[in-house]
Amino acid sequence: MVNYWLHIKHTLLPELCLLCKKASGIESNTGLCKDCTENLPWLAVQQSCQRCALPLNKNTDQSALCGQCQKQLPAFDACHCLFHYQFPIDKLISRFKFNQQLSYSRLFGYLLANQIHAHYQPSSLPKAIIPVPLHKRRLRERGFNQAQEIARICSNVLNLPLNTNQCQRSKHTDHQLGLSALERRRNLRRAFTSKPFPPDSRIALVDDVMTTGTTLNELASCLKKAGCQEVHLWCIARAHRP
Ligand SMILES: [Zn+2]
Ligand SMILES: [Zn+2]
Repeated sequence: MVNYWLHIKHTLLPELCLLCKKASGIESNTGLCKDCTENLPWLAVQQSCQRCALPLNKNTDQSALCGQCQKQLPAFDACHCLFHYQFPIDKLISRFKFNQQLSYSRLFGYLLANQIHAHYQPSSLPKAIIPVPLHKRRLRERGFNQAQEIARICSNVLNLPLNTNQCQRSKHTDHQLGLSALERRRNLRRAFTSKPFPPDSRIALVDDVMTTGTTLNELASCLKKAGCQEVHLWCIARAHRP
C-alpha cells in the first residue's frame, strides 16, 4: 500500500530535491540535485584510515592506519564509507530509519553503488552482498532492516547477488553507546551466527552507519570463522570515535 501511494506521488508531482526542495537538476536515481550532492560531507579516502576508514585529522599517505588498527588489525579486510556522519547525512539516515521513509533507500543504495563501482576493478569486487542483520526483536520494533533496503538497491545496480540468509543476529544487545571498548566487546560476544561458506567466498557487508566498528568487527570475525575468505565493509557513514 505504501509503495502504491509513493508511486502515485512520483507520477503526479514533479520530483523535488530531498534536501533543498528545488525542482531543477535532480538526479533521478538519488533524488538529490547536483549542488546538494556535491556539498554532502564526503569522506576523502586520503583522509581516513586505509583499513577501517576512520577519519584522520590530516592528509595522509596511502598506507596510513589509525592508532587502533596499528595495535590490532580488524577482522574485515577493507572498509568503504561514503560520508562523515554529520549534517545532513545524520538527518537523512534518521529520517530513513525512524520514519520509515523508504525513498531514502534509493538515495543511499545508488550513492553507495556509484562509489563502489568507481572504486573497484570489476575483477576484485566481492561476489555477494550481505546486509548487517538486525535482531528479530529490533526488526519488529522498526518494521524493516535499513541495511537490507540499502543492500537490495546496491545489489540490483551492481548486479551482485544479495544474500539475506547467511547470518543472523542471535543475541539482542542494548545500544552500545556509553559502554567502554571492553564492555562493547563483551556485550557482543556470540551476537552473530553464520552458516558455513563455500570455498573462496568474498563478500561485502552493507550497513548504514559505522560507529566504533566493534559490531561490524564482531560480525566480520564470525563470518571468517564460518569460512569466508574476505570480508569488505560498505557503509554510508563513518562516525568519529567518541
Ligand atoms: Zn538540492
Ligand atoms: Zn583504522
